Amino acid sequence: MKIHEYQGKDLLREYGVAVPRGKACFSVDEAVAAAEEIGGEKWVVKAQIHAGGRGKGGGVKLAASLDEVREHADAILGMTLVTHQTGPEGKVVKRLLIEEGAPIKDELYIGLVVDRATQRVAFMASSEGGTEIETVAEETPELIHKVMVDPKTGLTQAESESLARNIGIPGDLVGDGAELMRKLYQAFWDKDCSLAEINPLIVTSDGRVVALDAKMNFDENAMYRHPELQELRDLDEEDADEIEASKFGLNYISLDGTIGCLVNGAGLAMATMDIIKLYGASPANFLDVGGGATTEQVTEAFKLMLKNKNLRAILVNIFGGIMRCDVIAEGLVNAAREVDLGVPLVVRLEGTNVDRGRQILTDSGIEIINATTMADAAEKVAAAAGA
Ligand code: GDP
Ligand code: MN
Repeated sequence: MKIHEYQGKDLLREYGVAVPRGKACFSVDEAVAAAEEIGGEKWVVKAQIHAGGRGKGGGVKLAASLDEVREHADAILGMTLVTHQTGPEGKVVKRLLIEEGAPIKDELYIGLVVDRATQRVAFMASSEGGTEIETVAEETPELIHKVMVDPKTGLTQAESESLARNIGIPGDLVGDGAELMRKLYQAFWDKDCSLAEINPLIVTSDGRVVALDAKMNFDENAMYRHPELQELRDLDEEDADEIEASKFGLNYISLDGTIGCLVNGAGLAMATMDIIKLYGASPANFLDVGGGATTEQVTEAFKLMLKNKNLRAILVNIFGGIMRCDVIAEGLVNAAREVDLGVPLVVRLEGTNVDRGRQILTDSGIEIINATTMADAAEKVAAAAGA
């Protein structure tokens, strides 16, 4: 789960991490009032969307007067912000963060992820802040310093001080920088983050180390123990179809291909997407209806897939282990009655109650292309979609 920058900063503030003073706003008037309240002579107007690269896309602007705050807030609020993380369609900006302007002397980078190979939190730090860390990793990997944190000790004082020195935090600020890193690690740990990134972490001209940006992602599997984070969810930032799917307990991810996939089990769903690719077509979605899907869930799954304008064909690939083939068949028939399929439908059923399932499909009179093996199904659906 992702949250906005201002929410991440609120959370970090609770942990004692230095962040600029600021306020989230939903209108231009509110933005101007917030700047007035914050005071000072310089402000930053920042678009709040669940994607990075906002600066380059025109979503982060410095203002030297309240009039400029108004001007920038007016321009950014409601704009469709396109960054390398939003995709070409961009994101409409509905929230702003107004902050006191910070006098930047140096832009650095710190980031944490869970490293699966070592089963530890990887704490990364670099002198190359403000730029895309992916580029640094590719072109000058020696400028990224890494500590695999021992979960028993957490990020130690010695480790954090060494990181602070390695990225060029001046000697008299190493203690502050290192402390900020340890607090960030603690927040990451307590809140079950999957990623935390401060880019840039800045050294100011008046001798402070401050988190100027904050990106925090959380492990959705740990949400049950963080009701306080659940409240930070912004449904506007999530894919409408994926939200709809989650209401019905379906694991659905929108993709940009043309073949709708309805599969049971994540492993089979991945294998199905792979084999569709192998036969020259591309999946329009990932959809795992799970082991115990009901007829209603299957119907909803079909409705979701059919909303996709790029859809050219549907592949139903079911191995009836716990899931019964007749349930899938009934759902399919129901869905076809409720909504016009309008695209070719390839079905591969195998396993529990397969004969009853096939009978239901035959009796329904729905036009179906039957497939036997995975390869057969993929070949047929690719051909049906004209891929
Ligand atoms: P991102 O582009 O989405 O990562 O947004 P950031 O919050 O990282 O802001 C982008 C860039 O704007 C930063 O790297 C800074 O160079 C600049 N910036 C942001 N806040 C301030 C500020 O308070 N003062 C100054 N001088 N620059 C800022
Ligand atoms: Mn940033």
